[in-house]
Amino acid sequence: MTMAASQHRRPTATIALAIVLAIVLSCAPQVATDPIPQVYITTDGTKYHLAGCRYLADSKIAVSLADAAAYYEPCDVCKPPIPAIKE
Ligand SMILES: [Zn+2]
Repeated sequence: MTMAASQHRRPTATIALAIVLAIVLSCAPQVATDPIPQVYITTDGTKYHLAGCRYLADSKIAVSLADAAAYYEPCDVCKPPIPAIKE
């Protein structure tokens, strides 16, 4: 009788594991989503900016942080993030 009781636990544990796996897998794409913020450059400037910077009043071109950092310097006013550079 006690063995029968223990056997009843196995399916429950399997279902619980499946639920945990489903949650982990469903969250995986969100975790993998790129957390790097959007940055912007201007048509005649040499620096890149965060959205809302006053230097973006005249022109505002969305670029990836990696591209911006490769060709532009971070703005001194809005202080956008600087990606880790591999050299
Ligand atoms: Zn700026």
